[in-house]
Amino acid sequence: MAPKDAKFDSSDEPLILDSIHKWLERDVAPYAMELEHSDTYPTDMVEQMKEMGLFGATISSDWGGLGLSASTYAKVVTMVSEVWMSLTGIFNSHLMMATAVEKFGTKDQKQRFLPRFATGELRGGTGLTEPDAGTDLQGISTKAVKDGTEYVINGTKTWITNSIEGTCFALLVKTDSNAEPARKGMSMFIVQKGPGFKISKRLEKLGYKGIDSGEMIFEDFRVSADDLVGGEEGQGFYQAVGGLELGRINVAARSVGIAKRSLDEAVRYSQERKTFGKPICQHQAIQLKLAEMATRYEASRLLVEQAAQAYDEGRRCDLEAGMAKYHASEAAVENSLEAMRIHGGYGYSKEFVVERLYRDAPLMVIGEGTNEMQKIIIAKQLIDRNKI
Ligand SMILES: Cc1cc2nc3c(=O)[nH]c(=O)nc-3n(C[C@H](O)[C@H](O)[C@H](O)COP(=O)(O)OP(=O)(O)OC[C@H]3O[C@@H](n4cnc5c(N)ncnc54)[C@H](O)[C@@H]3O)c2cc1C
Repeated sequence: MAPKDAKFDSSDEPLILDSIHKWLERDVAPYAMELEHSDTYPTDMVEQMKEMGLFGATISSDWGGLGLSASTYAKVVTMVSEVWMSLTGIFNSHLMMATAVEKFGTKDQKQRFLPRFATGELRGGTGLTEPDAGTDLQGISTKAVKDGTEYVINGTKTWITNSIEGTCFALLVKTDSNAEPARKGMSMFIVQKGPGFKISKRLEKLGYKGIDSGEMIFEDFRVSADDLVGGEEGQGFYQAVGGLELGRINVAARSVGIAKRSLDEAVRYSQERKTFGKPICQHQAIQLKLAEMATRYEASRLLVEQAAQAYDEGRRCDLEAGMAKYHASEAAVENSLEAMRIHGGYGYSKEFVVERLYRDAPLMVIGEGTNEMQKIIIAKQLIDRNKI
């Protein structure tokens, strides 16, 4: 990887991608299947990710991160996802928290948190979702009430990635439950585990194994007012949605990884497996599937590239990120199912990776805004940008 004190330059990209590729081949691919099936947290890999600087991948080099562009970061995410998608959640959710601090935090917050986020010494994620509010974030009920120089937090967050293994989270709360509209009464805090902050359960999932998803309970949990992101109440909703464009590009990049691996597995297997005296890739019905899979993958990859480029250039990219996320995640679901069909009965076996891809893909249509919401965002932007 690039030295951490140097500013990222796009000419560094091949070196970075090459070191990720070598790490994946050597330290991840041989162990991913076993860890996934036993739902074991990949502790050694997390240590390796720390050493490679992945926990600071998008954090500026001013704060000790690698300062990767969104375009390069998306390629890294895709490569990791091709081998084991779960790993991307360990650093991605963490980097969403870091992005909130880097974009919206006070100077003091940046100094206190970003260098420790970049090394992975402090790791965690984002706590937005609650048992009764996911898509409709303005419907959350976790409250923070000011008490002197502190806030007292009460409420429950669910589905939080890294909540068991991590210690630090960007937490969305209400500081004014009567505000109209509700988003004006929302704030974000950086909270670290301590008295009053407990994990009530580890959630069991269809896929995305190895990585921890949990429910966090806050009971009279105290946090310093210094940890209110940006130092001003009422900004939390905007801070949460302000990171969503990058979040969507990331989920789209993960999806591209699943779509690509599904294609690769199908292309290989269809040449090995013979029926009626010839490899199944010579049957036209299989060829049609392969052609559709390859086209879906390429189109998704290009949409991600376009959205990441717009993000890097500082252009508004909610339409582009929404399209990338929507198309790539549907491609991941369709390609993983087609790969399974091409594998016949073996596709249903735990000995083949397509079974895992099929279980991992559906999360992509839910995370960082469901695809129903992506379509609404895309349509609204279309109208907005083409007013008559
Ligand atoms: C494995 C996993 C990891 C996660 N990690 C995190 C995390 O780290 N941090 C975090 O905060 N959250 C996390 N989440 C939560 C995730 O962000 C939410 O599940 C997601 O936002 C959807 O919210 P919901 O589940 O409450 O669904 P709901 O909001 O209840 O939606 C249910 C259905 O209704 C649809 N719908 C809702 N509103 C509309 C509308 N206006 N128009 C049309 N359709 C609509 C949705 O698209 C969906 O199909 C995670 C979830 C999973 C499964």
